[in-house]
Amino acid sequence: MSSQMPFIPRSEDRASAPRKIVHIDMDAFYASVEQRENPDLRNKPVVVAWRGNRSVVCAASYEARRFGVRSAMPALTAERLCPEAIFIPPDFVRYKEASRAIREIFERHTDLIEPLSLDEAYLDVTVNKTGLPTATLVAKTIRQQIRAELNLIASAGVAPNKFLAKIASDWKKPDGLFVIQPHEAQSFLQPLAVGRIPGVGQVTESRMKAVGVSTISDLFNLDLVQLEAHFGRYGMRLHQLARGIDHNPVVPNRASKSISAEDTFERDIPLGDTEPLIRRLAEKVWNGSRGNARSAKTVVLKLKTKEFATITRSLTPPAPPKSCDELAAIVLALRERVEFGPQQLFRLVGVGLSNFQIEEAARTSMVSDEMAAVVSDSGTTVLGVEVGH
Ligand SMILES: [Mg+2]
Repeated sequence: MSSQMPFIPRSEDRASAPRKIVHIDMDAFYASVEQRENPDLRNKPVVVAWRGNRSVVCAASYEARRFGVRSAMPALTAERLCPEAIFIPPDFVRYKEASRAIREIFERHTDLIEPLSLDEAYLDVTVNKTGLPTATLVAKTIRQQIRAELNLIASAGVAPNKFLAKIASDWKKPDGLFVIQPHEAQSFLQPLAVGRIPGVGQVTESRMKAVGVSTISDLFNLDLVQLEAHFGRYGMRLHQLARGIDHNPVVPNRASKSISAEDTFERDIPLGDTEPLIRRLAEKVWNGSRGNARSAKTVVLKLKTKEFATITRSLTPPAPPKSCDELAAIVLALRERVEFGPQQLFRLVGVGLSNFQIEEAARTSMVSDEMAAVVSDSGTTVLGVEVGH
C-alpha cells in the first residue's frame, strides 16, 4: 500500500476489519492551560476552582496532586491539603479555545473524531489521512504536535476499540503512550480492578464487591445469566467488556449531544425533598432543548450524595418526552431507582437530556452517563450544553 494513495476499504471490509482507535486525554488540562498562559504559575501547585464553601475542584496541576488534591474534591479540602496552592477561577472561554486548537491537530489525521469533553476524544484512525503506517505512530505524532505547537501535554491510548483505548490512555498518565494490541487485550484486562472500567464508579464498584466481583477476571468468570441477575441490562455490556469486546463506533458528532442543568443545595437534603428542584431543573432543560430541531432520546437523573458519590440513572423511553411535565415525570420515576436508605442525604441534583437523534448517523451510539461537566457554585443553577465542538 503506497503512502500517497490512501487505501479506502470497501464498506464490508470496514465492518469486519480490526479497528484502530486512539483515545487522547489531556493531562491536568485546565490547570495546564493556566500554567501555559501565566509563567508565574509554572511548577507550582495550581487548583482551578471557584471560591466558595461548597465549591469543588475543577482541575489540579500535577504539583498540587502531589499533596493529594484531586478534581471534584471540595475546594476547602484542597486548601487544607495544600495551603500554598494557587487558586484560579475557571476560564472556560480559554479552555474551549485550547480545545479547538487540539481538535485542529486531530483533523490532520482523521475526520472520525468523537469528543467526550473539552480535553478528551476518541479518534478512529483505521484509515488515516497522513499515510502513517501504524496507529501507534499516529498517536505519537499527535502527542508531539500538541506539545510542540500548543505547549500542552497529552496522554494517548491505542487499542482495537474505544473501551480498551480509554483504559490505555490512563495507564501511563501523565505524558504517556500505551498500546494494547488485539492479542494482548485478554491478559491485560484480567487483573484490573473493575473500577478501571469507564462507567463503573464508586457506587457500582461497591455493589460489585458485595457480590464478590473486584477484578475484571471475576467478571469474566460470571456467565451472562449471573451478570444480568446482578446488574440488569448492564450485564450484557459487562459480559462483553470483560472479554475486551466493544463494538461501539467512534461517532463524529458536531451537533449538541446533551443538555443538562444541575444545582447544589444550600444544605444537604433527603431524596424525598428533591422533587421541587427536579421540576425546576426539568423546566430549564426543556426550555434549553427547544432550540434543537431534533429530539433527545435519553433522560438522565444525576445525584451527588453528601459523601460526593455521583449516581446517574438514565432511561431511553420508546418515544422522546413531548412536554416538560413528561420529562419531569420520567426523572421522578428514575428517582425511584436510586437504592439508598431514607437517611441518605444529597448535595446536588441534575436533570439531563442526551442522545439527540442524529439522522446521518442512524446507528446506536453508547449512551453517555456523564452529563456536561459543569460545576455549579452554591445556590446557582448552571445550564450545561455539551457539544461536539
Ligand atoms: Mg484529562
